[in-house]
Amino acid sequence: MLISKKIYPVLSEFNTFALNIKKMKVYTFLIFLLSLSLFGCCSKAFAQKEDWQTYYEKSGYLKTPDYKETVEFCKRLDNASEMVTYTTFGKSAQGRELPLLIIDKQGYNKSRDVAQTNKVVILIQAGIHAGEIDGKDATLMLIRDMVIDKKNMNLLDNATLLIVPIFNVDGHENSGKYKRINQKGPEEMGFRTTATNLNLNRDYLKMDAPEMRAWHSLFIDWMPDFLIDIHTTDGADYQYPITYGMEVNGNMLPALTDWQKNVFIKTVEKSMEKAGYPIFQYVAFRKWHDPRSGLRNWVSSPALSHGYLALQNRPSLLIETHMLKDYKTRVSATYEMLVQSVSVINKEAMKLRLMINEAERYCASATFRQTEFPLSFETASDSIIVDFKGYHYDVVKSDLTGGDWFVYNNKKPVTMKIPYFNQQKAVEKVKLPEAYIIPAEWQEVIDRLDYFGIEYSRLKKETELTASCYRFKNVKLSPVSYEGRQNVISFEQYESNETVKLPAGSAIIRMNQPSAAIIPHILEPKAPSSYFSWGFFNTIFEQKEYGESYVLEALAREMLKDPKVKEAYEKVLKDDPAMKNNQPEILNWFYKNSPYYDIRLNRYPVIKIYDERQLELFE
Ligand SMILES: [Zn+2]
Repeated sequence: MLISKKIYPVLSEFNTFALNIKKMKVYTFLIFLLSLSLFGCCSKAFAQKEDWQTYYEKSGYLKTPDYKETVEFCKRLDNASEMVTYTTFGKSAQGRELPLLIIDKQGYNKSRDVAQTNKVVILIQAGIHAGEIDGKDATLMLIRDMVIDKKNMNLLDNATLLIVPIFNVDGHENSGKYKRINQKGPEEMGFRTTATNLNLNRDYLKMDAPEMRAWHSLFIDWMPDFLIDIHTTDGADYQYPITYGMEVNGNMLPALTDWQKNVFIKTVEKSMEKAGYPIFQYVAFRKWHDPRSGLRNWVSSPALSHGYLALQNRPSLLIETHMLKDYKTRVSATYEMLVQSVSVINKEAMKLRLMINEAERYCASATFRQTEFPLSFETASDSIIVDFKGYHYDVVKSDLTGGDWFVYNNKKPVTMKIPYFNQQKAVEKVKLPEAYIIPAEWQEVIDRLDYFGIEYSRLKKETELTASCYRFKNVKLSPVSYEGRQNVISFEQYESNETVKLPAGSAIIRMNQPSAAIIPHILEPKAPSSYFSWGFFNTIFEQKEYGESYVLEALAREMLKDPKVKEAYEKVLKDDPAMKNNQPEILNWFYKNSPYYDIRLNRYPVIKIYDERQLELFE
């Protein structure tokens, strides 16, 4: 018993041990098998997840990849999926290729093939201001999730996506920790402007940057139905991770304006709120930092992306993440905003296409030309009261600068009721002609028409005609350079009929075309971003010949023998007493009224043809 007792436990322990060994073997074997399969499976899943994590995700949501890393990831997506095509659409000033991803469920990657389908084309661009790069990291994840993980595939049901992960590629590589003083992350970021210090989001009309000319070529190839342009905003502090801009204040036709306001934005606002990312329209206080001064909106100049798209009869969405939110919050909010926006566009695809077609037909019609065309707007004094989710702040008098210091100390959320000045009224309107003619020598202007997809014909032989011309007075040029140009900041304009001689090769731009709304914005001097205002025509203000005083003194006496001249001169002296005894002014008056004077001085070289019959001259 003892033994047994002794042995038993031993045996029993042994048996238990043996049993355990057996169990262990079985277990080990099972575990081995399981671990093999699990490990194999997990490691594959793990490897797959690991492989397809973006640089931004791997960095713990703190860093953004450089140009090379970004392009490599784009190429891997292309290799991994039939739905993705990686290509480029031009080169930057420093010679970098501009990256483009085309995402299509059927793998179409040519505009003509997509045009055969009922799909809409959505252009999504990030990094036009390269420091504001949230859109690149959000779009790379979005594409990966769609084509590798098959998530959100419905976004490709009725849409082909063109994705520009970095637009300002040279600015993107001019990176560092100190490029955006107001912005929280990523750890390093690029710079706002291109290598030649041009702001691409002021270049849509004047097209001085090679990157912008490449963009226009891409645009007219695909004629996207919707643009999403992703930024990070500066300005005040508030709760919204994203604010948005859409051109709904005057430069678009009513049907498209209403759709943007009442269908697109309303739906996206609701779904973003539900997803935990409340959004609000672009925040601009009448006094820059002060919410109490009220919000205002405006009609965007076509020098900007969404202002330009409006004139091409296409809606666009400006996404502005808020600089003071951390990078992860901003990228996640952008991702969600893209999903919600593209989802609405998919659902509305057919309707959107019909509205765009209708708008283009209208712009090409005689009715469009017969209405007065609004060129510029100003904010009216009417306002409404809106809720604004801000933060509590104190305004303290700075002991350093003596100015007001807006102190957002405790991030205490507060919903304020503030006035919103949301009405715009047209301040400059213009009568549209049947055609504009740009004389052949203004080639720099004519060349740009091709990039806009504007159609024109060339004058076959030198032609003299009487047509409507603008003349200018009191022209003031900007004393400082803006975007590399010397802008015309104020002037008076008169329109009259003059006889002009046009050389062969002059461009005749008829207004009966779908992109007609852009033409006056380029060629009407009073348009806010016209080529006249950008200084394309500044040489017309330069007098190139002068009379010597002793020659003019003699000429003046000869001219005064004509009673008409004498009468006119006396009137001028009476109207402008300051001219008396002002020899240069007096002599210049005689010079101006003599046949020696250059009649082209201060005359706009672009002419307007109002009478369609006159155009038959050029057939
Ligand atoms: Zn920006």
